[in-house]
Amino acid sequence: MAEPILSVRRLCTWFHQDEGIVRAVDGASFDLEPGHTLGIVGESGCGKSVTARSILRIVERPGRVESGEILLRRPDGSVVDLVKLDGQGREMREVRGGEIGYVFQEPMSSLSSFHTIGNQLIEAIRLHSDMSKKAARDRAVELLTLVGIPRPAQRVDSYSFELSGGLRQRVMIALALAAEPRILIADEPTTALDVTTQAQILDLLRKLQAEQGLAVILITHDMGVIAEMADDVVVMYLGRDVEQGPVETIFHDPAHPYTRSLLQSIPSVLAEPRSRLRTIEGSIPHPYARPAGCPFHPRCADAIAGRCDRSLPEPTHLGARHAVSCFLYGGSGVPALPAGLLERAE
Ligand code: SF4
Repeated sequence: MAEPILSVRRLCTWFHQDEGIVRAVDGASFDLEPGHTLGIVGESGCGKSVTARSILRIVERPGRVESGEILLRRPDGSVVDLVKLDGQGREMREVRGGEIGYVFQEPMSSLSSFHTIGNQLIEAIRLHSDMSKKAARDRAVELLTLVGIPRPAQRVDSYSFELSGGLRQRVMIALALAAEPRILIADEPTTALDVTTQAQILDLLRKLQAEQGLAVILITHDMGVIAEMADDVVVMYLGRDVEQGPVETIFHDPAHPYTRSLLQSIPSVLAEPRSRLRTIEGSIPHPYARPAGCPFHPRCADAIAGRCDRSLPEPTHLGARHAVSCFLYGGSGVPALPAGLLERAE
């Protein structure tokens, strides 16, 4: 197995608020393999977006990466811990947008309305290379072609507000690829789009991933998107990875009660017409009321009284690449979180 291109280890990103500390990400660990798509999935509020922002070191105040490691492996074999870099410093700016491209949910808030998309692309290209303006403009047209923008030589002079939602998201992907990154982070890239456009953007991401050999982190709340796109899956709940493994294992042999609940809530073509979708019992705890012990225990039908509400399960390996944090599979636990620490995710 190839060495991971990115390894996240026991990442904690907390928000220091007047009311207390909110642990949005609380000990998440996972690996991204070169050329693989890693899907990070969980309900809204599980910390997946904060994880992406932590990797890019763009967590907004009062949040900050508290501890853990984000290890980026370079082609020469050297490894840099992004947590140790200054989030606003030169080296991190070169990583962000250079080695790691990113696409977020709402392109309108990421694209400028005052500059043509061509100028934004040219700026992104020249930020990470010494290309002349003319060469960068040619490259911008090439990138628009690559992401399937019709009439790219004309569209390069358009403004973002002149484009449809789907075309804007394609421009965002072109921007993310401007510096030829090795990793692409896509955070709910299709959520704001209609169903047809969603499918087109996912197709495009899949094609680019294969053609460019990119390693992709795809963040979504949608298990259907994971099934279609991911090689490997990390299931997150309240800031922790609760299960991870290859996509086939997660879909055919899910171990964690939360993963099983997520899978049961997917619409199935085999379901009886008009049958009701199963929903996950209960709701994500209030940000300021994180349960002690396993964070899923108040919603878990399999919870073991006296154990699940007292200690936090550590990961147990069920296979070479399949791990679960749940006492149903044995494994050790750590004492419950100290009372009084407040928590929120995303
Ligand atoms: Fe359920 Fe206990 Fe497993 Fe948590 S550790 S998922 S509460 S069985």
